[in-house]
Amino acid sequence: MKRILLKLSGESLQGEQGYGICPVRLTQYAEQIKAVAGKGIEISIVIGGGNIFRGLSGVGKGFDRVKGDQMGMLATVINSLGLQSALESVGQKSKVLTSINMSPVGEIYQAAKAIELMQAGVVVIIAGGTGNPFFTTDTASALRGVEIGADVLLKGTRVDGIYTADPEKEPTATKFSTISFTEVIEKRLKVMDLTAFTMCMENHLPIMVFDMDTYGNLEKITGGEEIGTIVK
Ligand code: UDP
Repeated sequence: MKRILLKLSGESLQGEQGYGICPVRLTQYAEQIKAVAGKGIEISIVIGGGNIFRGLSGVGKGFDRVKGDQMGMLATVINSLGLQSALESVGQKSKVLTSINMSPVGEIYQAAKAIELMQAGVVVIIAGGTGNPFFTTDTASALRGVEIGADVLLKGTRVDGIYTADPEKEPTATKFSTISFTEVIEKRLKVMDLTAFTMCMENHLPIMVFDMDTYGNLEKITGGEEIGTIVK
């Protein structure tokens, strides 16, 4: 792994609080990212916004879907700025690039810019999703991962991989260590939304699903330990 696209879930950022941004969780993420960057791995990050707002959650409650999605995208910008602050606090250089023009919050995203920064040892946080409504940050991760030539998309979640069934509902479910894209489709397993998943499959970008909330896991997985599930 030389270059990674790390997808962090917005929901995980809320930690035990149930809403917003948990400073402890944010610092834990920042420390782990710094450790991996210190090994010379180039990192770009996409963070979700589900801890603040999801476009779909407003539908039927008076929110227009497009406006709601724009609110969701802005939520990812809030999380990205939070992560950037945390990275700076632990002494890791980072930069927020935004998919929507909003200077001076961040410079507008361009793949070439992201690559240049990563090559200079700067962790890049790509905020604002894809910039378009009706998409998700999983799709933004797949898109940006392909654009920047990442070796792998690391999807950090609460679960430690892909299971035969939902392990939170089905105790007998077993975990895959490796699975193919076609097998995921045939078995109707839920890894990412289909737009994101298809983008990875068509562009041969492997996906690694792992538990990001266990401290040290990011270092383990980037160091080659088989702690999650790889889809390739
Ligand atoms: N969103 C969007 N376009 C994008 C990315 C995100 O419209 O390209 C909106 C969408 O409303 C989504 C919200 O931003 O619900 C938050 O992102 P997501 O649900 O992917 O975050 P997560 O669930 O990973 O925290």
